Amino acid sequence: MTREHVIGTAVAPHMSARAMRASPLWMRPNGSEHRTPILSRNAMQERGLARFGCRRMSTAGVARAPQGPERTIAPPNEQGVKRPRVISSALFGHATCLSLPAMRSLQRTLARPVEIEGTGLHTGVRTRLRLCPAPAYTGLLFRRTDLDGFEIPASPQYVARVSYATALVRAGVMVATVEHLLAALYACGVDNAIIEMDNLEVPILDGSAAPFVQMLARAGLRTSDAPRHYVRVRKPIQIGDAHQRILLSPDTAFRVSCVIEFPHPMIGRQQHELVVTEETFVEELAPARTFGFLEDVETLRRKGLIRGGSLQNAIVLDHAGILNPEGLRFPDEFVRHKIVDLIGDLALIGHPLLARVEAWRPGHALNTTAVAALLRDPEAWELVAPAPTRMAEPVIS
Ligand SMILES: [Zn+2]
Repeated sequence: MTREHVIGTAVAPHMSARAMRASPLWMRPNGSEHRTPILSRNAMQERGLARFGCRRMSTAGVARAPQGPERTIAPPNEQGVKRPRVISSALFGHATCLSLPAMRSLQRTLARPVEIEGTGLHTGVRTRLRLCPAPAYTGLLFRRTDLDGFEIPASPQYVARVSYATALVRAGVMVATVEHLLAALYACGVDNAIIEMDNLEVPILDGSAAPFVQMLARAGLRTSDAPRHYVRVRKPIQIGDAHQRILLSPDTAFRVSCVIEFPHPMIGRQQHELVVTEETFVEELAPARTFGFLEDVETLRRKGLIRGGSLQNAIVLDHAGILNPEGLRFPDEFVRHKIVDLIGDLALIGHPLLARVEAWRPGHALNTTAVAALLRDPEAWELVAPAPTRMAEPVIS
């Protein structure tokens, strides 16, 4: 077990050419090479990169960085729209407030286990879900405690059944509706976690990612000594057609824009764009709830879906408006939720992303296809690690 630190503070805008020259060299199975600017001699690092088919070719030293300043707590974002209280990511620990664009350079996990219980949106089953700390290079790993601890990594190779939610299946064992939880973990910078479940579907809770953000705030986050590797998109990749598509292109941050169109008076055409960070996710995206149309309810129920659906965990639209008496949390809550879903599916990449993601009418099938298409093309991405510029604080336990 590596010595761990309370919440990470390492910030490095981008790799410099100098950092690149000083970096270790890696080679992909097809013979192409790329560099990462940080080297760890920890064998776990090689395991992590091996997930992407890389092996080490040469080595270099590890840079150390000074301690960062105290972070500040962002005020709640009130726009005259009813919104549940969301705990700011600033409460995650004694870390600095990051300015944009910024990249954390060390992997993080939870400081302590935290659990919640709730009903699955589609199956209606009760599930107890426990988020647990995990060693560096574990990634996000589901564990079915009701099936002798059977494990399913959050990885594109296990994607199945993506019509109304994203499910992962390994050897016939499923974890369903993973996207809101994965979005919260991914956007809040949790690299490693074990997600224990005693049934097959992640609880829908209030239909948004906010309860998972609150779980992370309760757990706190810890930074490890292990370097964090980003997947940087190197060339544009487009998936889909004129009606529905996703374009991934190079960027120095994780930037998402999304357009949705529904012929409904409450939705119409909505567009939202942002750089995804802990702060923007918590304030602008996490509270946005899933939604559905009353006219589809019977059809979906006949298909065995939305058995746990209600006005407590979804926005329900009839032909003229919404049935939820509390109203919307954002005027454009619908497109914001689609971005939550998209981020949850992008989490299957297994590393934080440096790319501009433009999505037109996205859905889980398209999102997960885009992830697979990106990773399948070795020329389209590379693993990079920012040089640390601030040292993490020492562990408190
Ligand atoms: Zn969703």
